[in-house]
Amino acid sequence: AISRGHHRLYDEISARAEANPEAALFHLPDGERLNYGDALSRVGQYAAVLVDQGVSKGDRVAVQVEKSVEAVLVYLACLRTGAIFLPMNTGYTPSETRYLLEDAEPTLFVCDPDIAKKLTDETQSVLTLSADGKGSLTDAVDTAGAAPPVAKCSGDEVGAILYTSGTTGRPKGAMLSYDNLASNAEVLAAAWGFSPRDKLIHVLPIFHAHGLFVAINTVLFSGASLIWLPQFKPERVIPLLSQGTVIMGVPTIYGRLLQTDGFADAIRQGALRLVISGSAPLSARDWERFRDATGHEILERYGMTEILMHTSNPLIGKRVPGSVGPTLPGCEIRVIADDGETLGPNEIGGLQVRGPNVFKGYWRNPEKTAEEFTGDGWFQTGDVGLIDTEGYVHIMGRSKDLVITGGYNVYPKEVEAELGILNGVSESAVFGVSHPDFGEGVCAAIVTGAGSDLTQDGILSLLRPKLAPYKLPKAVFFVDDLPRNAMGKVQKNVLRETYAQVFQ
Ligand code: ATP
Ligand code: MG
Repeated sequence: AISRGHHRLYDEISARAEANPEAALFHLPDGERLNYGDALSRVGQYAAVLVDQGVSKGDRVAVQVEKSVEAVLVYLACLRTGAIFLPMNTGYTPSETRYLLEDAEPTLFVCDPDIAKKLTDETQSVLTLSADGKGSLTDAVDTAGAAPPVAKCSGDEVGAILYTSGTTGRPKGAMLSYDNLASNAEVLAAAWGFSPRDKLIHVLPIFHAHGLFVAINTVLFSGASLIWLPQFKPERVIPLLSQGTVIMGVPTIYGRLLQTDGFADAIRQGALRLVISGSAPLSARDWERFRDATGHEILERYGMTEILMHTSNPLIGKRVPGSVGPTLPGCEIRVIADDGETLGPNEIGGLQVRGPNVFKGYWRNPEKTAEEFTGDGWFQTGDVGLIDTEGYVHIMGRSKDLVITGGYNVYPKEVEAELGILNGVSESAVFGVSHPDFGEGVCAAIVTGAGSDLTQDGILSLLRPKLAPYKLPKAVFFVDDLPRNAMGKVQKNVLRETYAQVFQ
């Protein structure tokens, strides 16, 4: 429903600000706060700068900056002017950045002053914004003229292009409509019981769907506030536990918090009502360790850049470790076999989804978009899993990571789960590489805990009673760390490349 001639997402956000302009939106590390009313009037000035720069409805505003409140205000200014917000990972190499700028063709590029210095022959306007919120962008905002009117857009128009994490290849630009964003924010605010009293401890990057949309849109939709940390540092999170009511993180964050002295006590004495995890699988073992240490059952949910959030363990009701829960309201999921048959409960196959949250396609890539949608309009996630008899979804991994050895399918997660409960194993990643006899051979990369004397033979003898012979790793590599990207996701393609030759 379009209530004031512009899309519902910005409507809802400005309604919160009008209803309660004095309510805090940001609680900043220096003890300052920025309230809803001041934030949104500042957004009007940012919008004036966008218009001055020649940005109009449908134009892209690419933003590659360190996490800052000002970067969030740029996002809101895009919503207000109908420009397409296009955040970029700060970890991209110069050549990746160049490729994405050529692909996105932004009208305006907001970047760190250091990046701006290195840009040559740019075709777009450039404004700078550094980690401390200073630069030519904020200078322009300080002297900006009157705020332009809020743009009229329909809910079906693209509000943001977000690049996928690039875990399996080159990042893809997912076009998300205002309705995608608004429907998901509304569903999540209700499913997770958000209210104006909530304070979300925000430790994630904001160039990714998790920190940006799952965290910030949900907070804005419910009139809640953000306890803002520029980066995740365990020792900085502990003092915030007495104020924060919700925290969102990726599994590696919870793993590190568990290893930090004083964390479990702080959480037991603190104000948290909800701990949410996603973006990568949380092992059942870590879920249990977290509950035993803190008394909290982590709520795991599942989504993708292309679909935002799609399933979630319940706020009230049974949270199942190792499961991502049932579908969220309005979201549908089905499991499809290789031959296209729809599978029943507990049968493993490709996960396909449908719903108001599903994106409009990949930016400037209609072939890829067509490939990933079925004839009857379902999006193929590329993830493999099952739905149990209670409707809870279990992700078994990505179809690209499935190992086929001697004609048998091995789901890495099943082997990782057995490795994970062995004494001395702190992390593991199971993957397949080419094998002359078996097609692919199962391999395991393992990070051991301090003082562990595990060997390949020792591990195999512990696994033998639990796993069928074809599932056993044919090679075990002991490593200091697993290769991970900015979202803490294990890069199995890197492992496959590193160990490509072991069976040759
Ligand atoms: P790319 O598509 O570029 O290879 P990516 O898939 O990692 O990168 P994202 O969109 O950030 O990019 O991540 C979505 C993927 O993350 C899902 O398809 C799924 O594989 C994984 N994922 C997200 N949440 C969970 C979860 N709770 N459990 C298991 N996997 C998850
Ligand atoms: Mg993906």
